[in-house]
Amino acid sequence: MKFIFPILILLSVFSMAATPIHNHSHQESKDPVCGMSVKKANSKYQSTYLDVLYDFCSASCKKSFDKKPERYLKKK
Ligand SMILES: [Zn+2]
Repeated sequence: MKFIFPILILLSVFSMAATPIHNHSHQESKDPVCGMSVKKANSKYQSTYLDVLYDFCSASCKKSFDKKPERYLKKK
């Protein structure tokens, strides 16, 4: 029973470190395929459709979008 307390502290510190900081700046855009937030600054996967630039979290999301852009833009 003695080591329960330090383990709890360790767990809470770890979960705090693992939680990403949510900053609601306009530097972020949404991946239309999976709905994830993508930071514009380090977005490597971009695609333009009807003069609108879209950012993606991964190459596979970009691929899916490029195949059928209208499929991901319809649902709102
Ligand atoms: Zn994605």
